[in-house]
Amino acid sequence: SKEEVIALRKKYLSPAMFWHFREPVMITEGKMQYLFDEKGRRYLDAFAGIVTVSVGHCHPEVVAAVDRQNSLLQHTTTIYLNNEIAEYAKELADKMPGDLKVVYFVNSGSEANDMALMLARAYTGNYDMITLRNGYHGMSPETMGLCGQHTWKQPIPQGFGVRHAMNPDPYRGPFGNDGQKYAADVADLIAGATSGQVAGFIAETIQGVGGAVQLADGYLPAVHKLVREHGGVCIADEVQTGFGRTGSAFWGFQNAGVMPDIVTMAKGIGNGLPLAAVVTTPEIAASLAKRIHFNTFGGNPVCSAGGRAVLRVIEREGIQQNAAAVGSHLLSRLRALQQKHDLIGDVRGRGLMLGLELVKDRATKAPATAELGEVFERMKDMGVLMGKGGLYGNVFRIKPPMCITRQDADFLVDVMDHAMS
Ligand code: PMP
Repeated sequence: SKEEVIALRKKYLSPAMFWHFREPVMITEGKMQYLFDEKGRRYLDAFAGIVTVSVGHCHPEVVAAVDRQNSLLQHTTTIYLNNEIAEYAKELADKMPGDLKVVYFVNSGSEANDMALMLARAYTGNYDMITLRNGYHGMSPETMGLCGQHTWKQPIPQGFGVRHAMNPDPYRGPFGNDGQKYAADVADLIAGATSGQVAGFIAETIQGVGGAVQLADGYLPAVHKLVREHGGVCIADEVQTGFGRTGSAFWGFQNAGVMPDIVTMAKGIGNGLPLAAVVTTPEIAASLAKRIHFNTFGGNPVCSAGGRAVLRVIEREGIQQNAAAVGSHLLSRLRALQQKHDLIGDVRGRGLMLGLELVKDRATKAPATAELGEVFERMKDMGVLMGKGGLYGNVFRIKPPMCITRQDADFLVDVMDHAMS
């Protein structure tokens, strides 16, 4: 029973784990964009296991690919050859623009960003990293240091050589949507707080955990130029924004018109399988050529087979196009809702990576954190599971599996309207 699960969890699982909702939801089954609890009650999943279930819960093609590989060979090691990891690397590299052609598979976003940091430092010979105040990049000691938000900090040594730049947040930042002005802060930071030469810059192209913040216009091109002028490489954290989620592009950085040197990806890559990757140029990858770096599970046959199926499904089912179409319908309906409810301060995002910032007062923008909590609970009671985040916990994050339909989007907005009323 649910009560027994709660008791087991409290006794045997780390208290560092937390749950959403006053009374936790128990999920026992998932089917495409829907989740089912222990009583068989259906929910529309608007958070996709934290932006991870990209093509749908238990998508039949992913399940079949995993089942097939699972009974053929579950695991081997990269010290032997296996076709799955090799073919998968090629298929993933084919999805990358420019010179981004060398893949290294790991198991999580944190590991991917650890690897990216190591590559940036090994390749440039520099140490200092620039990142953003609202950024989220992982929970390993190294990547925790990249996170700017206090919520994610533990009392451990972290963040050596990491400088957090002002968040280029068009809604809350002092310079509105003027990316050049926020970029000037990075120039100051490099001049005043680093050796003058940096290893690199890492950012999400739309911040996820930090509250669906779309970086101000022109920010990324300006910062990439600056960072390269100071010897650094540019890393795009595509853990949430990749695989077509923004609708308008397969990778989030393509929306910003930049070409990163290193791209990290996780979550949606495996539709829920523990899989992640770093993709970089042959030149940067070569900086590790004479050093051994090893990962036991990275790109194991089962996850590779699943990841390959995800790529096929995205292509064949027009998943990115669906994210664009349903996402823009959702965005326009949410904007209409903003006219009705003063609580909604800002509506933003692209494709199926949307955010809604709730404020007590549109003039002061005081975060409506408690109000969000109430709407969140009521939406759950009416069958919609939402995500939340942002520095003040006052941003709804809407990132459903990308197979969601227009009818689902209408249901979500109707439920939100009702809950807010
Ligand atoms: N980068 C981003 C943008 C993320 O959202 C996350 C996870 N929320 C990570 C990295 C870390 O991924 P993981 O939890 O798989 O280590």
